Amino acid sequence: MEKTLEEIRNFLKQHQTIYGSTLYLEGRLSSRALAEVKPQRISQTPQVLKKRPALLKQKSPALQAYYEEIKDCRKCSLADSRKNFVFGYGHPNAKVMFIGEAPGRDEDEQGLPFVGPAGKLLDKMLQAINLNREDIFIANVLKCRPPRNRDPLPEEVAACEPYLLRQLQMIAPQVLVALGRVAGQTLLRSSNSLSELRQTVHTYNNIPLLITYHPAALLRNPRWKQSSWQDLKRLRAMLGTS
Ligand code: URA
Repeated sequence: MEKTLEEIRNFLKQHQTIYGSTLYLEGRLSSRALAEVKPQRISQTPQVLKKRPALLKQKSPALQAYYEEIKDCRKCSLADSRKNFVFGYGHPNAKVMFIGEAPGRDEDEQGLPFVGPAGKLLDKMLQAINLNREDIFIANVLKCRPPRNRDPLPEEVAACEPYLLRQLQMIAPQVLVALGRVAGQTLLRSSNSLSELRQTVHTYNNIPLLITYHPAALLRNPRWKQSSWQDLKRLRAMLGTS
């Protein structure tokens, strides 16, 4: 009994570190119970990104210059529908670079990556392994939002990937983490499932690449949290930040 209580305590502690004090329950709730549950609004903008994008310069002159060079890109039709070109943001010599799929609505509005609810969860996941946004760089495979958040098209990836490759050259991270199946499949030109892709340390452009759940998927499917914690621990071991 004491052992079980200890296990429950550890689980709740780990859960709180990554996901905060909201406990996600599986299973069905009665309609009465549901009526009593007030939806919790997740704070929208991670602390480090609270400044207006116009004031938020890249953290090195070289990255800022590259941003200026490519921000008006018109290489694909996403240029017609975007509000902002989302270059990416973070430490100019980050040891780890996170790569998402493409900006969503909030990111397109603000010109910054992972600023919506998924970004808030990403911050908590980073905290759990002693990292924060100041330590890492975050970018996306595509720099512009696809309409209605559809998956990137091959021609969009072909047009945009050189920007990511140049960012990798400038930042020179030791480890890459692709967030979600689409980012992982796109970088690796693979059609394997996320559960297959998660098993291995891949390489992208000669840099070790881990593939894990997209935080938005974790918000929708809390039962993947345990496995996502395994991935974070693997990253922590690779970075030696434990
Ligand atoms: N999802 C992504 O893949 N990238 C973002 O920047 C935001 C949400």
